[in-house]
Amino acid sequence: MRIDVLTLFPEMFNGPLQTSIVGRAQTAQIIEVHLWDIRDFTEDKHRQVDDYPFGGGAGMVMKPEPVFAAVRHVLGGDDAPVVLMTPQGETFDHALAEELSQEDRLILLCGHYEGIDERIRQSLVTREISIGDYVLTGGELPAMVVIDAVVRFLPGVLGEASAVHTDSFAQGLLEYPHYTRPRVYEDMEVPEVLLSGDHQRIADWRHCEALRRTLLRRPDLLDKLALAPRDIEILKAIRAELGQS
Ligand code: SAM
Repeated sequence: MRIDVLTLFPEMFNGPLQTSIVGRAQTAQIIEVHLWDIRDFTEDKHRQVDDYPFGGGAGMVMKPEPVFAAVRHVLGGDDAPVVLMTPQGETFDHALAEELSQEDRLILLCGHYEGIDERIRQSLVTREISIGDYVLTGGELPAMVVIDAVVRFLPGVLGEASAVHTDSFAQGLLEYPHYTRPRVYEDMEVPEVLLSGDHQRIADWRHCEALRRTLLRRPDLLDKLALAPRDIEILKAIRAELGQS
């Protein structure tokens, strides 16, 4: 997969893209990330990328000319999705990350200041993504979030092939709790079932704990699931245990 990022601050990506799993995915040539400085596509001597908003008001707006030139250059006639990072876009989630991971190519456009000239959105952008209902100073952190979440779905990126399918949200539930050595730490013991070596019991316990966690922390997720009769029984038992009706 190839990801092109268009930004006014390419240096912001250095640490996150070169470290850990995303860094290894690049070394292994599973993804290629190309960073483009929008300022390199200006044609005036001041290399101006922003200007005052027509109609007045606070802040500066990213000018259309360098962004159009940058997007056209990077696309080079290809029809890859051009994704604008914006708090006004569809909310990024597990399903959208998985969907984007099916693309061969993605172009991520990072806004800054008050945002971009509306004509960029109208004629260049094919998709708009928000990472949540809050406003950041720029689209660089959102682009890094999208890259990180998308890359996890690419075959060969995670050591354990099935990890991405058991993580929170993959099955519509939050994931069960994890434990590692030591068996006892400050009087806190690892649940006995995890030491039993009985794979079926362990799987059942984990499924039950995933249901419990989801019920306690994100009951809204349960409403979206078509629960199996056995899960309905388990949830009933957990509710009774918790004194819920
Ligand atoms: N004036 C804009 C508004 O109210 O919708 C916000 C502009 S914001 C200060 C500057 C840039 O940060 C945006 O153009 C966008 O690229 C990025 N950004 C900020 N919050 C974001 C979010 N929650 N998700 C994705 N991108 C965001």
